Amino acid sequence: MINILANDGISISGIEKLKKNNFNVDVNSVLQDELSDVINQKKISVILVRSATKIKKDIIDKCPDLKIIGRGGVGMDNIDVEYAKEKGIHVINTPAASSSSVAELVFAHLFGMVRFLFISNRQMPIEGDTNFKKLKKSFSAGKELNGRTLGIIGFGRIGQEVAKKGIGLGMNVLAHDKFTKEANITLNFFNGEKKTFTIETKEMDYILKNSDFITLHIPKTDEKAIIGAEEIGKMKTGAGIINTSRGGIIDETALMFALDKGKLSYAGLDVFENEPSPSTHLLMHNALSLSPHIGAATKEAQDRIGIELADQIITYFK
Ligand code: NAD
Repeated sequence: MINILANDGISISGIEKLKKNNFNVDVNSVLQDELSDVINQKKISVILVRSATKIKKDIIDKCPDLKIIGRGGVGMDNIDVEYAKEKGIHVINTPAASSSSVAELVFAHLFGMVRFLFISNRQMPIEGDTNFKKLKKSFSAGKELNGRTLGIIGFGRIGQEVAKKGIGLGMNVLAHDKFTKEANITLNFFNGEKKTFTIETKEMDYILKNSDFITLHIPKTDEKAIIGAEEIGKMKTGAGIINTSRGGIIDETALMFALDKGKLSYAGLDVFENEPSPSTHLLMHNALSLSPHIGAATKEAQDRIGIELADQIITYFK
């Protein structure tokens, strides 16, 4: 029997599919330092991870019998992919499974931001009974998303899902991508009707200058932040920005400065430079809508991820 260790967990649907096909699935998480020993002792052929466990050169060198490294999700920055391939290890991931969930989280932040839910949820328990009228006044300058301009930077899988949802809400959608020139965005409606919109991407500066809200959907690189003080300076005064891609894509110091000075009204962050210990200044900031890297953390996305990993593993060993 082939042994699989799902070190950061896997959905029940994925486990069931693998078990039905005679794989042994272990979901007992092992500490990073002990991982290579456990892989060798338990004769693990397939190691599955999400973003927490790292499978770098040291583990690959110590575990010569590994056949597959699987990442449940998109970003592969916790795996030495090229090195694993050189060693003949098959590396798999599930790039499309979580796009819709991440896109929905963008709108959760956006809706919360424009009606100040992120801050009223912190203040209502403390002074909602004594200062109701004061709070009502502080949160009365809300905005609608309908009719506003949403700038999407990175027009791949998630960026295009965000576009669909933005169009559905009546937003004016702009996009920038380093490589993609245009994309067809098809909205599927409840009654089976479809409507396709072709969106041509524009220069980054155009997006920065013309958007009421900017949302980032690009991979992490080792380059400096894509959005720093200079880029924020080009944005509309009072705009909002959301990062659900990777920590470090926005310069957090420049972001806090812009929020303090009123250049930006608010920001939504699901990812942080220093995960899993983000800066406390950031966590305490009252213009930030925060979530702890939960973009893909929905039942639907996790089911799709588990099933996609199971299918790829089954196909490989056939
Ligand atoms: P994707 O590869 O489909 O799309 C990324 C797009 O960015 C591509 O079209 C690429 O051409 C473009 N791009 C790359 N560098 C760029 C640059 N410097 N400027 C402009 N465009 C650039 O990826 P995706 O599936 O849409 O994922 C996007 C990001 O979301 C990744 O960083 C991924 O790690 C992250 N993500 C986060 C969560 C979460 O839990 N918050 C979950 C899934 C994915």
